[in-house]
Amino acid sequence: MRYCRKCLTQEMDQAEYFQNLHDYIDGLDEDIKAGLDIYTERLVICKRCERLQDAMCNACGCYVELRAAILKNTCPYKLW
Ligand code: SF4
Repeated sequence: MRYCRKCLTQEMDQAEYFQNLHDYIDGLDEDIKAGLDIYTERLVICKRCERLQDAMCNACGCYVELRAAILKNTCPYKLW
């Protein structure tokens, strides 16, 4: 499916936006991507964190699934 890659979130349907986000994560280059174990472990920590709000980290403003998917990324509070 083709979609616009230049849209702002305010211009996008929310379901489509989140699908695009997951497609982007799935399509990350394996060289930069965290393995499934690391990714899952990170998200377990985020799920327990008081700074998680609507899938976003209110410390850094990232969608935590995207942040956690990239191996070199870290939690801004060093929780992972
Ligand atoms: S990235 Fe760190 S601070 Fe942000 S929600 Fe996850 S555990 Fe909490």
